[in-house]
Amino acid sequence: MPVELPRIPLAILPTPVHRLERLSAALGADLWIKRDDLTGFALGGNKGRKLEYLLADAVQNGTDAVVTCGSRQSNFVRQIGVACRMLGLACGAAVMDLPHEPEFGRPSGRLPRSGGNEIIDRLAGVDLRIHPDGSWDELFAHAEQLAEEYEAAGRRVFRVPVGGSSPLGAYAFYRAGLEANEQGAFDCVVCPSSSGSTHSGLAYAYAGSSTRVIGISCDPEPENHDDLVRLCAGLDDLLEEGKSLDKADFDLRFDYVGSGYGVVSDAAEVASRLLLDHEGIFLDPVYTAKAFAGLIDLLPGLSGRILFWHTGGLPTLFAESVPTESG
Ligand SMILES: *Cc1c(COP(=O)(O)O)cnc(C)c1O
Repeated sequence: MPVELPRIPLAILPTPVHRLERLSAALGADLWIKRDDLTGFALGGNKGRKLEYLLADAVQNGTDAVVTCGSRQSNFVRQIGVACRMLGLACGAAVMDLPHEPEFGRPSGRLPRSGGNEIIDRLAGVDLRIHPDGSWDELFAHAEQLAEEYEAAGRRVFRVPVGGSSPLGAYAFYRAGLEANEQGAFDCVVCPSSSGSTHSGLAYAYAGSSTRVIGISCDPEPENHDDLVRLCAGLDDLLEEGKSLDKADFDLRFDYVGSGYGVVSDAAEVASRLLLDHEGIFLDPVYTAKAFAGLIDLLPGLSGRILFWHTGGLPTLFAESVPTESG
């Protein structure tokens, strides 16, 4: 029996797993999909699972305000904003249109900017602080300033890292991996990876089994690979399973980021089209479309039953999309 941690139920679980019949026939492969776009809470997506544990922790700590950060189209800000509203907690978020590391340059392409998730953030009453574009470290510093501003006003603040990627977020995906394993045996699981708790939790759940987990990075920063190791060390502390995973235990691919985080890539558009045309399933431009492009490209080297983990993100489809040059 897995270790049980305090949880506030938000997502509708288990999410469905089903075969992609038409696409499997078209590509001569055995493709399946895990529908975390259908977690239900606050328009679905992978963050609902993490919030069940993160917010249970926040409530136990007697917090009255939650502070986080992300891109302006953050799916995490949307879902945590709605959950905070429901739980009677204030929620503040520092955001940027296009956070990026200077060494990789400002990505070019089409940027989903306003609208989309931001509309839900405002409906939920999130205190959204929009900052000029800069590095992730600058964004984290803005979030810390916001937390201190709240504290100076006498609030008891709970800080949540970007994307909910603390060990508790990874724990949620360790549980998700166990959930999927009960729904079927797969030779390979492919998921998008960004702040890392989705990939690390799934890798932890399947470590030592014959199922291979491949994360498709949606960010160019190679340090994200180290974050997976750190998150799983945190899981070791929570679970006392002592798996001690190291860098080589995580298959993280950086080949499908396109020109950078947050902008649409051509390969992602082609992959989205393929899934939509064969199965009527939508992908989001920032994460799942890039991950699916990766799966399609890697397919010749994969065999057996392959599970694509659909992490949601669909409100971004309704965001205004602008060329980065004018952004
Ligand atoms: C946040 C997010 C991811 C990435 O998950 P991480 O746990 O941050 O790596 C993937 N897909 C969607 C739709 C997301 O919102």
